[in-house]
Amino acid sequence: AVVLGIETSCDETGVGIVDGGRILGAALASSMEEHARYGGVVPEIAARAHLESFAPCLRTAMEQAQIKPGEIDAIAVTSGPGLATALQTGLAAAKSLALAWDKPLYGVHHLAGHVAADTLEHGPLPARSIALIVSGGHTSLLLLGDLATDPIVHLGDTRDDAAGEAFDKVARLLGLPYPGGPSVSRAAAEGDPDAIAFPRAMLGQGFGFSFSGLKSAVARRVEQDPGLHVPDVAASFQEAVVDVLTRKAVAACVAHGIGTLVIVGGVAANARLREVAAGRCAAAGITLRVPPPALCTDNGVMIAAVGDLLAAAGHPPATLGLSADPSAPLTRAVCAPTSA
Ligand code: ATP
Ligand code: MG
Ligand code: FE
Repeated sequence: AVVLGIETSCDETGVGIVDGGRILGAALASSMEEHARYGGVVPEIAARAHLESFAPCLRTAMEQAQIKPGEIDAIAVTSGPGLATALQTGLAAAKSLALAWDKPLYGVHHLAGHVAADTLEHGPLPARSIALIVSGGHTSLLLLGDLATDPIVHLGDTRDDAAGEAFDKVARLLGLPYPGGPSVSRAAAEGDPDAIAFPRAMLGQGFGFSFSGLKSAVARRVEQDPGLHVPDVAASFQEAVVDVLTRKAVAACVAHGIGTLVIVGGVAANARLREVAAGRCAAAGITLRVPPPALCTDNGVMIAAVGDLLAAAGHPPATLGLSADPSAPLTRAVCAPTSA
């Protein structure tokens, strides 16, 4: 089905058009630079930027796809989780289009979008797989069946910071620019990953994660060592994160007898994570799937991809009462809370 997807959960305005797992058009705008001087996303600034960027993104995506409204089969929109005011801009746009064009509307869970992004590159997921979601706000190991129809089983989650959040906080500690993921990994490329033995929290203790102790260890190091070599700290920090993530993800696959691991979310763009995961999966006989870096961070096509799967599965659409759930738990790909 031809599905138009809308993403506005954080600081990226994404509009994507997908047909049967194929990308027809995509447009993305970001307010990232406006947030940089605050060191994090400011919700009011993000919401205003979405309002300004939405129509131009819609036009660009439609022109790229060379389609008219009549050729669109459904609208999909991120309804949660994310910043409330940011989510509401996307919902208002999606509902208006669904009403004006008389199209079915699907509310999509943002994290299911991150997973579905991979299907746009590597095709449908197998009947069973394990997903490692590593993003700015979430870190989870999941047991997946059919993404459109089956409940999503959490094998483990972070008990404090998300992996991306750890990168962002460590960047601040090291005086590196926001967002932290790309800047820490750039610094790490010049450093020695074995320079400092940072802690690997909760290794061998199930499939949960903890990154706040690691962040504190970096903070202590920064305080104690005035002659700090930033690339070595960045490389050693990154190695600790990557080591824990990849060991636990592979262990989860082995424990559950699953042959496919998919790693998604913004941190999946990290080159060292991709490299170590590839080595460990190959050694364990596990098929690794990671989307191309541009599809790891937030975008509109990943939301369209979920809508496409929901439509193909005959999932009932949402009503125009669809509302935002800023802290929606990931239990299913569909996320359709309604206001009273
Ligand atoms: P969520 O998806 O949990 O709601 P989000 O949408 O803000 O959060 P994403 O867009 O998935 O998060 O990812 C952004 C995060 O990815 C940021 O924390 C950023 O620092 C991190 N990130 C981006 N590129 C890299 C990289 N190359 N290495 C490590 N982290 C990265
Ligand atoms: Mg972002
Ligand atoms: Fe995201």
